[in-house]
Amino acid sequence: MVYLNGEFTPKNKASISVMDRGFLFGDGVYEVIPVYAGKIFRLYEHLQRLQNSLDAIQIQNPYSNNEWLDIFNRLLSFSSTANQALYLQITRGADVSRKHSFEALIPSVFVEANSLTPKSRTELETGFSAISQADFRWQRCDIKSTSLLANIIYSQQAKACHAEEVILHRDQLVTEGATSNVFIVKDSTLFTHPTGTNILSGITRDLVLESAKYCNLAIQEVAPTLTQLLSADEVWISSSTREVMPITKVDDQLINHGKVGEHWLEIYNHYQTLKHA
Ligand code: PLP
Repeated sequence: MVYLNGEFTPKNKASISVMDRGFLFGDGVYEVIPVYAGKIFRLYEHLQRLQNSLDAIQIQNPYSNNEWLDIFNRLLSFSSTANQALYLQITRGADVSRKHSFEALIPSVFVEANSLTPKSRTELETGFSAISQADFRWQRCDIKSTSLLANIIYSQQAKACHAEEVILHRDQLVTEGATSNVFIVKDSTLFTHPTGTNILSGITRDLVLESAKYCNLAIQEVAPTLTQLLSADEVWISSSTREVMPITKVDDQLINHGKVGEHWLEIYNHYQTLKHA
């Protein structure tokens, strides 16, 4: 079952207008929210980021936080799977003709829940590879927009290279991954690009920083250079579905001789306690 514009309906019965601006222009925003043991994780942080994205493109939030929660809970009740990922998307809605500028329309709302299987510690400890690429995305990466063409191109490149992620750099500074935030550790200090319009402010990014504080790891919200990335002691990526994942190879360069670092394990362990708190 999925939620579409006020109704719960089987996915194969759900349909929208061809004039929907989400379909025509990718004129919409989205969120992905993890659910662990039936509990929605960091719900209000995700709803706040949703509000920020909606405000940035002048779409009115169709629901209050309690109404969102009701929709999520009803959707989750259709499945007995303990760990799920909620996907929600709001588009500007359908107009009568195709034009770039917009009038006030009735937003289209779609929500679905899919099972989520985070990688186990043993799987993560094998390490993952990434490739680096110039960041050619637009300069409002803080908006969680459904217009994802650049991210699609990068993800396909990663797939072709059997890599987990593409790490992006703008003017030699590491911004983030195509679908994640990026961290490096050098001499026991954690570096990550500051929030702003060049990155999506990840909810997991905040959780990693919270975990780093707990673990007494020094934090610098300063973008590492590409050279610093390649000579880092540790490299991690983070996202709601991947949590915090160790990268042990970037392009042809092994990180920490291809071994997962000790700080990653500390952060991973603390993250697991936050998930189940
Ligand atoms: N940056 C980008 C470009 C993303 O697409 C994502 C997740 O989809 C993230 C960062 C991580 O955000 P979050 O931790 O909220 O999932």
